Parts: sequence; structure tokens; C-alpha cells
Amino acid sequence: MVNTIRGDTKVLGVIGNPIEHSFSPQIHNTICKCLKLPYTYVPFHVMEENLQDAIKGLCALSVQGFNVTIPHKNSIMQYLNGVSEEARLIGAVNTVKNVAGKLYGYNTDGNGFIRSLKKYNVDVKGKNILILGAGGAARAVAVKMAIEQAKCITILNRTVDKAKEICEVINTHIVDIANSDVFSSENVSRYGQRVDIIVHTTPIGMYPNIEANPVEQLAFLKEDIVVCDLIYNPPKTVLLKETEKSGCLSINGWGMLIYQAVNAFEIWTGEKVSNDVIYQLYKLL
Ligand code: NAP
Repeated sequence: MVNTIRGDTKVLGVIGNPIEHSFSPQIHNTICKCLKLPYTYVPFHVMEENLQDAIKGLCALSVQGFNVTIPHKNSIMQYLNGVSEEARLIGAVNTVKNVAGKLYGYNTDGNGFIRSLKKYNVDVKGKNILILGAGGAARAVAVKMAIEQAKCITILNRTVDKAKEICEVINTHIVDIANSDVFSSENVSRYGQRVDIIVHTTPIGMYPNIEANPVEQLAFLKEDIVVCDLIYNPPKTVLLKETEKSGCLSINGWGMLIYQAVNAFEIWTGEKVSNDVIYQLYKLL
């Protein structure tokens, strides 16, 4: 799958710990191959205590750009020369571009999510949104939905203070449309009845606990509600199976993963990734 490595091959990569499970090398090397570009993308296992040295090394080796995953998405920000406004609001960087030795950080997760919805002709502008969970992924999605002019965003979380924190960022720095509450069956039903899009962002239902369902009571669902689960392993969680039975458009997290990668690749290389290539990426799951 990796392109032939030559003297002029440029290197891209991803840093994280652990890193062996990452799909990013497969996704990016498929893009490089389909577009016939002289790039290759490799995983770098970087422990927390080695982050600064690793960044210096990546710069010294003229690595053109890299993704950043757990546990470095927040801590990397202090080592960068600049961070996009969106990444600053999200409070995390997942993409770094090396411009002549200066490093610039971006966050493409929220954008990836929005683009994955557009594939299904779902637009968040003017929509009422319910987000379940308030971790890193929820924050990226919520901030981007606010930027994209959602009408109202409600975030439910087990630890309600974390949901409040995201709402504060949105209400203070973007637009005053966000509110929070505790993640409970009653609240999911109460808020769920009034929304257009539900986004599940907790790991409940993810492999290996694939029988787990974050929302047991789905009687409130109407068929015009779009339900998204950021999980892509399994491709169809119990939540998505159940919501499909109610006639809802049910979307998993594979599209978000693909489009955040596509967006990162476009930032690094300036090349447009065509729909034909994106079609190939959807087939990788
Ligand atoms: P995270 O920062 O650790 O946040 C996890 C969230 O889930 C927290 O809000 C946590 O609540 C909640 N949670 C965890 N276990 C729970 C439980 N048993 N009951 C109720 N709430 C629970 O994780 P993350 O990075 O946001 O990732 C979350 C999920 O999104 C994962 O499944 C991940 O694979 C997926 N994801 C997908 C993509 C994609 O591209 N498709 C990208 C990123 C993440 P507390 O705050 O109360 O602990």
C-alpha cells in the first residue's frame, strides 16, 4: 500500500501513545497512492515524556506535517509557533504543518464531522442539536457546530461540569446557544424530542463492549431525527441499529475519521482530495 520511497519522498506521520491501532497510516497512504503524490505517512510511537524531543526531531528531519493523537493533543500546543482559532477554541490540536521549520497547529476533527454529515446532505445550520458526552471529541464537534450556525446545542454528560465548560467556551467566544445537563435516560428523552440531530460521543458500545447501549429508552425518537455515533468499530453500534429501526438516518464515525484526515492532508499538501479518492477511503473500513 505504501508508495515507493525515493530520494524526493516527503514524510508525513502521526504521533501518539499507543499508536499501533491507528487507521491514519492506511487512510493517508491510500490518498498518496490514489493521487500519485511523492509522500509517505508513518506512525511514530511517542511517550509523553519525549514529546518535546520528538517534535524537535520531526522538525530536524523536515517532516512536512503530522497528526497528533492521544495523549498529546493538548500538551503539544505549548511547542507550536501558531495555533488556528478553531483549535484554540477546541483546546486541542490534531494536525501540525511544518512551514520551513515553524510549526502550525490545526484541529480537523470538527470539520471532519461536518463534512461527513454533508455527504448525507445534512446541514447543521439552524438545527437543534443534542450531544451525549463531553470529552475531547464532543468538544471538537460542539465548537464546530456552533461555528456552523447551529440554532441550539444541548450537551449531556455524566460529569456535568465538563459539559458546562464546553458550553461556556461556545457561549462566550462563538455564540450564546449552548446549555448543559446530566446524561440520564430521562434527559435524553426530554431533550431528544425537541432536536434535529443527536450526536453520541462516549465510548459506550465501542469494541469490545459492542452490546452496550448508551440510550436504552428510544421511544421518543421521530424518524426525521438524524442520529450520529462517533464510534466506527463496530461500524453499526447497538445505538445505530436501534435508531435505524425507528426510521432515522443513522451515521457512524468512519466518515468523520476519513474527512478529518482528508482535511489534514489538504492542509499539508495544498492538494484537493477528490470524491473518487474519498469513495476508496470509505471502502477501507
Ligand atoms: P474522552 O475525551 O475520554 O471522553 C469520553 C466521554 O465519554 C466523556 O464525556 C465521558 O464522561 C463519557 N463516558 C465514558 N464512559 C462513560 C460511561 N460509562 N457512561 C457515561 N459517560 C461515559 O474520549 P473522546 O476522545 O472524546 O472519544 C469519545 C469517543 O469518540 C470514542 O468512542 C472515540 O473512539 C470516538 N471518537 C471518534 C472519532 C472519529 O473520528 N470518528 C474521533 C474522536 C473520537 P465523563 O466526562 O463523565 O468521564
